[in-house]
Amino acid sequence: MKPTGPIPPYFTAPGPLAIAGRAAEDWAADRGTPLFVYDQAIVADRIATLRAALPPAVEIHYAIKANPYAPLLAAMAPLVGGLDVASAGELDMALAVKPAAHISFAGPGKRDAELEAAIRVGATLNLESEGEATRAVAIADRLGITPRLAVRVNPSFELKGSGMKMGGRPSPFGIDEARVPALVRRLIAAGADWRGFHIFAGSQALDTAAIIETQRATVHLARDLADRAGAMPPLVNLGGGFGVPYFAGDTPVDVTAIGAALGEVLEPGCAYAIELGRWLVAEAGVYLTRVVDRKDSGGETFLVVDGGLNHQLAATGNFGTVVRRNYPVMLARGGEPTETVSIVGPLCTPLDRLADRIAFPRADVGDVVALFLAGAYGATASPARFLGHPDAQEVLA
Ligand SMILES: *Cc1c(COP(=O)(O)O)cnc(C)c1O
Repeated sequence: MKPTGPIPPYFTAPGPLAIAGRAAEDWAADRGTPLFVYDQAIVADRIATLRAALPPAVEIHYAIKANPYAPLLAAMAPLVGGLDVASAGELDMALAVKPAAHISFAGPGKRDAELEAAIRVGATLNLESEGEATRAVAIADRLGITPRLAVRVNPSFELKGSGMKMGGRPSPFGIDEARVPALVRRLIAAGADWRGFHIFAGSQALDTAAIIETQRATVHLARDLADRAGAMPPLVNLGGGFGVPYFAGDTPVDVTAIGAALGEVLEPGCAYAIELGRWLVAEAGVYLTRVVDRKDSGGETFLVVDGGLNHQLAATGNFGTVVRRNYPVMLARGGEPTETVSIVGPLCTPLDRLADRIAFPRADVGDVVALFLAGAYGATASPARFLGHPDAQEVLA
């Protein structure tokens, strides 16, 4: 038997499970499965908790790639200071709910049409290379528009203990620290509206002390680069990287401690942002599937459910994890565990395993299985077309 991750504190085990005050089984019966349910009250609670913890000079930005479901974006937009996007498609989604002045566009390989779209509407481009800077300035000149340009820095340090490291090494993201001051001077000389720095050192970190240390280093780096460039950044985007507890033994980050430590190092008169994806939305989402088959093989019991890695790749351990471990999962109608089962999706590949040898109540065909932490990197981060099954439904509750 293998452990499962902790069920987010917003839900009660052993059940029956309710999502936004309604039985999970009712959601499944009403909307059909597979189904993602996102509870907007949980997202609002996360944002309020973080807002209360952070110094007032720090804006909260949402990195929409974590979950760009339009009704969720519309609900979140008034609650956050900015939206961070990484494609022209995401830019359009963000513009539907937020003024361009509060949208920044990062990501390598922005095509000319993407640079032009951002410049036309007045979104901030987080430049990822000198070449991109040259193209952006040329496009803005041709359009006769002053572009809003920030410089993404590839820091010489990394966020320790993060699941995905983004700094301290050769990188497709950002411009190496040493070359940043010259680029900032060049942008200002070209007449651009220089918007500041974007410094993102890693993702999915649960080590509060490491996040504090990285943020301190990031603030210092921004000041040092500003000194060398001879210009004050209007905004310093400190990145984010706050993780959520997916697996057994994981504990949440202490945002109160992070906010207090940040308050001690911020430069007066400078504006800051923290950009988060999963920390804001992961716990608000539950992925509901229905048991299609129950079978025994070689002494093991398998529950085969109607959706899997085609919708929730991350839960199968195939999205940025080295060792496959179990997400939190429960039988929607509740019950105490009485047997050991593996829960697999309907895809014809052994990769499609949602839970591996877990303790579970007796479940039969027709029962609803709930996978937690499905609010981030679910529907849009999974290979939906692989094997031709239907898309999952989504609903904002
Ligand atoms: C993906 C990404 C984020 C969000 O990461 P999370 O781990 O979901 O918080 C934030 N900023 C940038 C630049 C990103 O690429």
